[in-house]
Amino acid sequence: MSESSGSIFMVAAPSGAGKSSLVNALIAQDPAQFVLSISCTTRPPRPGEENNRHYRFVSVDAFNALRNDNALLEWAEVHGNFYGTPRDRIDESLAQGKDVILEIDWQGAQQVRRHFPEAVGIFILPPSIEALEARLRNRGQDAEHVISRRLLAAGSEMSHAPEFQYVIINQEFSVALQELSQIVSATRLRYGKQAARHAELFSQLGVRSAPV
Ligand code: GDP
Ligand code: ADP
Ligand code: 5GP
Repeated sequence: MSESSGSIFMVAAPSGAGKSSLVNALIAQDPAQFVLSISCTTRPPRPGEENNRHYRFVSVDAFNALRNDNALLEWAEVHGNFYGTPRDRIDESLAQGKDVILEIDWQGAQQVRRHFPEAVGIFILPPSIEALEARLRNRGQDAEHVISRRLLAAGSEMSHAPEFQYVIINQEFSVALQELSQIVSATRLRYGKQAARHAELFSQLGVRSAPV
């Protein structure tokens, strides 16, 4: 099968490292280019979170039904809640040449790689454990026991960083955002992606449609 011109980017991080802020800022630079996968979760909404925008908030029963219907590309239990990526929009978005962004944990990333070996993995690290804790607290959206649980889980999440091709240290936000944007740009210029995006030109020029 020929490659689609869109790519999948999996962004993982310990909670509070800045994953959602970076992804949202990336998409804001060029909203037409990206599709952000809206995960299903059994976690309750935080203040200000909207159903079907930040997550699709579902009951455990509804989550199990989606899982049994094979409607999830991947799913995992993270910090005591279930999270999963709906399958439906992904193939369609890739075929349209859009770049799909998944904010998922390491367990989900392992599952996605099995279906899409070319998916690009990006891990976001905080500049220090102290900064991670400060960010989780300053975000001010989680109860104390939730923050403690997430900090305890940070080491285990970060132990999976070597499974990702790229690492960004989110110290200065603008620098980290530029680095994320550069990873996306480089991926879009890969041979197979360019050949898929510019199929007619490649054909006119007599240039192969796939790398050797
Ligand atoms: P955050 O860490 O502040 O972004 O908190 P969230 O509650 O939004 O996410 C909790 C964890 O679940 C994070 O480690 C996410 O990467 C992970 N996660 C979110 N959505 C999904 C998903 O669809 N699938 C999987 N496997 N993990 C997810
Ligand atoms: P995640 O999605 O990884 O849990 P968030 O994007 O919610 O993390 O970021 C956690 C908190 O840290 C937010 O309040 C965000 O505004 C803040 N933050 C993100 N990046 C930086 C940075 N480079 N410097 C300082 N604060 C940051
Ligand atoms: P939060 O509860 O703070 O919104 O998310 C916590 C973590 O859940 C995120 O850091 C992310 O790793 C994970 N997560 C969110 N959505 C998904 C998902 O769809 N699949 C998987 N596997 N993990 C997710």
